[in-house]
Amino acid sequence: MDWADELAASVEGPQVVNDSKTPSGTVHVGSLRGPVILDVITRALRAHGLETTLLYGVDDLDSMDAQALLTPDAVERYMGVPLAHIPDQEGDCHASYARHHAQTFIDLFAGLGILPDRYYWMSDIYPTGQMDPYIRTALDRAAVVRDIYRRVANVQHPDHWLPLGVVCPSCGRVGTTIASDWDGETVAVACRADLVAWATGCGWTGRVAPFGGSAKLPWNLEWAAQWGLFGVTIEPNGKDLATAGGSRDRSDAISREVFDREPPRNFPYEFLNIGGRKMSTSKGRGAAAYRFTEVVPAEQTRFLFVRQRPESAIEFDPEGTDAIPRLFDEFDRLGAATAGREVKGELPSGHESIFRYSLLDPAADVASSAAAFRPAFAHLALLVQVPGVDVVTRVAAEKGAPLTSGEAAELDERLAAVRRWLEAYAPERARIEIRRDALPPEAASLLPEQRGYLAALAAATEGDAPASGEAWQTAIFAAAAERGLDARAAFNAIYLTFLGRANGPRAGWLLASLDHEFVIGRLREAGAAVETGEATA
Ligand SMILES: [Zn+2]
Repeated sequence: MDWADELAASVEGPQVVNDSKTPSGTVHVGSLRGPVILDVITRALRAHGLETTLLYGVDDLDSMDAQALLTPDAVERYMGVPLAHIPDQEGDCHASYARHHAQTFIDLFAGLGILPDRYYWMSDIYPTGQMDPYIRTALDRAAVVRDIYRRVANVQHPDHWLPLGVVCPSCGRVGTTIASDWDGETVAVACRADLVAWATGCGWTGRVAPFGGSAKLPWNLEWAAQWGLFGVTIEPNGKDLATAGGSRDRSDAISREVFDREPPRNFPYEFLNIGGRKMSTSKGRGAAAYRFTEVVPAEQTRFLFVRQRPESAIEFDPEGTDAIPRLFDEFDRLGAATAGREVKGELPSGHESIFRYSLLDPAADVASSAAAFRPAFAHLALLVQVPGVDVVTRVAAEKGAPLTSGEAAELDERLAAVRRWLEAYAPERARIEIRRDALPPEAASLLPEQRGYLAALAAATEGDAPASGEAWQTAIFAAAAERGLDARAAFNAIYLTFLGRANGPRAGWLLASLDHEFVIGRLREAGAAVETGEATA
């Protein structure tokens, strides 16, 4: 995580870190990358002794537009209307469509350890008149704005075009109006049926004083105005806005040339992709940020975004086989490495910072948190499905000592995550039903060499029970090697014997989750046919 510390070391004086979001619909888990990066930067700045303010804004006067249509919740009949003026479609007590989606998203922040000092809503800011000086300057310098668009973005606006979106006094749309003829107090406004393809204006024309919330600045100008209004010094943004001639370049130029202010430091970050698609356009059921955080606890959610540098794209599909268990495994691995334990595989550079920035509490004792005993997610996913297992006692036995209060709390959290994962995301083979009462009829298909193998595995593990999933896994492989049976046939035999099906979760962990006496008895029973020479086909 050298990047955040490097950034912190390169700036001086008080810092204001800002990000804002247009609440055009359900916010996807990938959109948490920005807020997590914002938080990591803020923590790094504060650790360097810099007074730092973290702001998070909602651009809720933006209109429901063609871009919003990409989200599953877009409301066609309100096309062109500011998101803050559209009723909440869910009817769950939010004041508007924008409030519903933005608040549902923002409500996740505190639980993720992201604590902005202030949230602001542009629909609240405009009516206070705080944006008026910026609106006036933009209109006075409209020729400069037009020149910037032409020069930076190769966009040619007509000479009468003004950088202003007036909310139509008649139909309330902002996306369909065009303003011209600024006389120092008012502008001429036309609400046009054909201004944009995705919304139809009502035809109203007249003059409007564009202050106190009756108009808004177009996005590039609004962004630059926010920087001036809030004194922003650092603002990371998604890579889509950072292209040459794109939004950020335009806003940087507007900040310098129209509002006479050096723009904040940028820190572009890549997206989280699902199966190669940018997450924000995914309509998958598991992709909503609030759903994801219902399943994955805060520290693993933070870890998902912190473990890769901001400029590298994250490929992650929460519904992908084992994606979530592997996320936990990797978190545990970096924790163990941070605690100084030996781990398998290569470590990412700065793994200790990655672990530290994944922790919920910035003041957490990193060493003791790293040293905590953490049972593997996949192991817990089996234990919770085996009837009669006291998981806490079991995990303490695996640790070889009572759990600390921190470990017990984390185990509780992890068990809740496991149960929700099994309901929401888990592949079918992770869901098991132990066929406890009797050898499943499906085991009749076991081949003689598989039966021989099961009997041998029973003999090898009978006296000295393997102590863990890992130890069972070793025993399973060893017994297979000894009898010249390939591993696939060995696993298949175990699944048929205990689950009555041909596949299942990691066999070692499966056997480790069951009581030893039962395992030996069942292995013997399934292997018995060959021992007595009565193999059934
Ligand atoms: Zn209108």
